[in-house]
Amino acid sequence: MEYSGQISANTQSNVNKQISRAGHPQDTWYVLIVDDDIEVHDVTRLSLHNIRLLGRRVKLFHAMSGAEAKGILQQEPGMAVVLLDVVMEQPDAGLRLVQTIRDELRMQEVRIILRTGQPGYAPEEKVIHDYDINDYKTKQDLTHTHLITSMVACLRSYQQIKTINQNRAGLQKIIAASSNLLEIQSIQAFSDGVITQIASLLGLSAEGLMCAVLQDQGNDAATRILGAAGQYADLNQQSLDLLEDSHRRTVIRRCLDEQQHLYLADETVLYIGKEPHAAAIYLHTSRPIEESDRELIELFLKNISIAYQNVSLFQKLSATAFADPLTRLANRNEFIRLLHETRFPDGANPVVVLLDLKHFSEINDGLGQDVGDDLLRAVARRLQLTFGQDTAIARIDADVFGLIGDETILNPLSILASFDTPFESGDQQLLISATLGIGQLELMGEAGLTRLKRAYIALNAAKRSLLSNYAYYVPKMEEDTEQRLLISRALRDALARRQLQVWYQPQFDLSSREVTGVEALLRWPQNDGDFIPPSVFIPIAEHSGLIVDIGFWVIDQVCSDLAELSSEGFPNLRSAINISMQQFRSPSFISGIMQSLSNSKIDAARIELEITESVLMDEPEVVIKALRQLKQLGITISIDDFGTGFSSLSYLRHLPLDRMKVDRSFVRDINQPGGHVIIESILSLGHQLGLRTIAEGIETAEQETFVRKHGCHEGQGYLYAQAMPLEALKRFIEQRRTPLSGAAPLP
Ligand code: C2E
Ligand code: MG
Ligand code: MG
Repeated sequence: MEYSGQISANTQSNVNKQISRAGHPQDTWYVLIVDDDIEVHDVTRLSLHNIRLLGRRVKLFHAMSGAEAKGILQQEPGMAVVLLDVVMEQPDAGLRLVQTIRDELRMQEVRIILRTGQPGYAPEEKVIHDYDINDYKTKQDLTHTHLITSMVACLRSYQQIKTINQNRAGLQKIIAASSNLLEIQSIQAFSDGVITQIASLLGLSAEGLMCAVLQDQGNDAATRILGAAGQYADLNQQSLDLLEDSHRRTVIRRCLDEQQHLYLADETVLYIGKEPHAAAIYLHTSRPIEESDRELIELFLKNISIAYQNVSLFQKLSATAFADPLTRLANRNEFIRLLHETRFPDGANPVVVLLDLKHFSEINDGLGQDVGDDLLRAVARRLQLTFGQDTAIARIDADVFGLIGDETILNPLSILASFDTPFESGDQQLLISATLGIGQLELMGEAGLTRLKRAYIALNAAKRSLLSNYAYYVPKMEEDTEQRLLISRALRDALARRQLQVWYQPQFDLSSREVTGVEALLRWPQNDGDFIPPSVFIPIAEHSGLIVDIGFWVIDQVCSDLAELSSEGFPNLRSAINISMQQFRSPSFISGIMQSLSNSKIDAARIELEITESVLMDEPEVVIKALRQLKQLGITISIDDFGTGFSSLSYLRHLPLDRMKVDRSFVRDINQPGGHVIIESILSLGHQLGLRTIAEGIETAEQETFVRKHGCHEGQGYLYAQAMPLEALKRFIEQRRTPLSGAAPLP
């Protein structure tokens, strides 16, 4: 070994020299000999010369005194065995060193073999036990063979202790590291987190890259850097092509191609996730990774892999769900979010403007949709060129644009002036004009949706006006409360007179094509045979609190209808019931449901409550608590209109959900550019979360084929049936199960 000749006095430089010559403990055992007798050092060195124990080389460190030994141990925490002379400068110097090792240096893993020339100085058994001493030998005992057997036993036990401790520390780290990451939704924060955690598991400084192949809408696939730490930080969110080191680019691409980890000499590329949501993590490790570390990292990756797939889906979802594919501007969802987040920096007076193109539908119908699309793109470009700098611009409806900016820039004159020159659309030059609804955010409340509603109130006022192309929002405009009050009174009356009705819209299993359930939908018939649509009276009922009583009535009615269906030989259908936030706040909500269940004697599993994302996010604690109790009763829970709200991934995971209902706007938009991506992502997110999925609003066979192809379990929509009264539902089901009637299984 590298020990050369005479052991000099106890100098720090000697210690340092021994340390710096040390290899890495991975393929070498570190053994410290502590003895004041130079001959013992020589004999031991000869015995262990060029020998391999349990497959590894042995590196010896030498100390002539307790103090010198302490210095070496402090600098070399990876010491496996100390061969220790009991009697040195003082009779108890050896035992004092043992005490220092265990109590002061807190080195519990290193194994200790005591040696003594004088058998009389044997330590008591208690000391051997308390200080975890492995062996006690007289120097005569330590012949070559004895020394080797004794050493092997010690090394084996050192290795076991170390593995156990490492695993324990590793698992704790993994648990801590993964739970941090599970809550993150932004891909960049997630990647940074992963890089930092892996580096810390390996004891390295946080430096690395995380990359994935991303399919840009319609364009070629490109490898992008999702997150970067340390020297790579500048490359965040850039193309991998910008990484200068070509070798690194190659190994990252290789990892993604081969879909496996690459453990190379001084770098490691890890593969995480599953196609098509997979990524590669590159780390410069300056050494090969030990087997035990590999296990640790792979366990960690397995733990967070699902989280990564979810984050990546969410990212994709929001990229497409918040952009208008036609103009590439923000869409309505994103505009509401921006409105919600707009604050008032000192001196600024932000306004919201809704800009409606006059006679757009005539252009669309008269000149064709392509010309219409071109025109919308041209308007988007014009608005961006004129106001783009400090203004948020969105397309929030077919021919309605939304702008948020400071009132010094966004005023009716400047906006309408931008419509003075014609727009190029196809080979036409079209001169069009616009109507503006404007509101000072200050006057418009806090929530994004409220602000948008009020801006629409201003827009509608402008459209009605004969004198002006624009109108500013003033609270007085909302005083159509008269009308609301009237409806509210009539609704209360209708409930009392039992004039409301519950209709049922069937739901189908997309593979067996059988009716698996229905959704209960309220109907309010009028004397003239017309119906006031739920979209009109439900918001009013919610506003006035009447929805709580209506809700109890709906639940009770559904339970008794389900009991009637069973007793007349109809299958054990499940019925979904829509629930509003106000119902969750009612203290008797759960007991009311229990009462209805027990009155009708139907199984709780036949009731499914539908809640929307906005209900969920309104008061998550209240809702989650109630949902847990309802689940315990055996009731199932479905999340309605999924994709239109802002539910956070971490909430979704904590919810006791059974089913996800894809909102019908996504089904409708399958053929819009980028439309299929959203619905694919939503369905795949549903699967990741372990939920059954159902698509609402299926109107065409094409839509059905599409969602079924992407693993959607069930469907509901006009293609199969509209909502119908109970008696009609019975006939509908009856017809479908009598083959003689000629009814096809599905249209
Ligand atoms: P929702 O829960 O999303 O209900 C689905 C709506 O989509 C129903 O409208 C249904 O008639 C309609 N629909 C179903 N298939 C198709 C299709 O293929 N194409 C199109 N265009 N529409 C389809 P409806 O009955 O007008 O209900 C509107 C909303 O009113 C419901 O939306 C729900 O949020 C609410 N609602 C209805 N009944 C109740 C109730 O008892 N309680 C509460 N709190 N809300 C209710
Ligand atoms: Mg619903
Ligand atoms: Mg719905």
